[in-house]
Amino acid sequence: ASHPVSVLGLGMMGTALAAALLKAGHPTTVWNRSAAKTGPLAAQGATPADTAGDAVTASPLVIACLTTNDNVRELFAPLTAELRGRTLVNLTNGTPSQARELAAWAREHGISYVDGGIMAVPQMIAGPQAYILYSGDEDAYTAHRDTLAALADTKWVGTDAGLAALWDLALLTGMYGMDLGVSQAYALIGSAGVPAKEFAPLLLEWVVAMTHGMVPGTAEALDSGQHLTDVSSLAVNQAAVPNAAAAFAEQGVQDLLFASLRPLLDRAVAEGHGADGLSRLSELLRTP
Ligand code: NDP
Repeated sequence: ASHPVSVLGLGMMGTALAAALLKAGHPTTVWNRSAAKTGPLAAQGATPADTAGDAVTASPLVIACLTTNDNVRELFAPLTAELRGRTLVNLTNGTPSQARELAAWAREHGISYVDGGIMAVPQMIAGPQAYILYSGDEDAYTAHRDTLAALADTKWVGTDAGLAALWDLALLTGMYGMDLGVSQAYALIGSAGVPAKEFAPLLLEWVVAMTHGMVPGTAEALDSGQHLTDVSSLAVNQAAVPNAAAAFAEQGVQDLLFASLRPLLDRAVAEGHGADGLSRLSELLRTP
């Protein structure tokens, strides 16, 4: 079935979202601050709106994808009358508290608010690996879920509007942590003149193998509260990690990773968790 949708914000991501809706056969109205960006979408069948207000009133489902949530607030603050009775799905990246504030503002004005976190780059939209996390007004989400599915797989994470941003940021945390580890690894091996390309297959295989065990293993430990290990104890890691830190110093390479990990390991052992596995560290981070 085809359902009218409006997309406001036609940057790299908003353009991909609107194109996916058009491709799925949904009548799509588009608006962008700099109007020229509606051109390519109009050529694909989108209806450009002259004003943001016109875009909002064109559809019961309004999708926003701007740079920041400050931009979202600024754009929609004068449009509460137009938005009343409609669903605003905000796919702008932001914090949990920003999403909760927008949800409260929307509730006050009779607007159904759903926040979303896009786990994809524009090129992945409507492809097999993309998904979007959603939270907030569950009835509105359920009503529009089939339409939203044209963008990417949908994953509902709860009625607290801040949850989509929290899940999104937690996933990004894993990615950036991996990025830091990989950057440090290349810097260390590169300091000995080893070409990155020679090291890459080993690094990839190692990281993938370790991640495959660690991610589900840590989840099981965290959910059961049982951190004792027969794999690798915190005490043995505490003894080994100074070697890595020393190697960075010897090679003249900056170390941000072990500088953070060491104090955490020291604390874990000092607090009597030496026999536990690395899964304990996540617990400790929650009680700094
Ligand atoms: P772009 O920089 O390509 O686009 C930004 C958009 O926001 C443009 O349409 C811009 O309008 C609009 N905008 C900015 N400020 C205002 C304002 N004050 N009033 C009205 N419109 C405004 O960014 P992306 O499309 O890449 O990203 C958009 C959102 O999607 C961001 O929150 C980003 O974090 C998120 N996202 C992006 C991903 C990506 O891979 N690109 C992945 C996941 C999430 P104008 O054209 O007039 O400047």
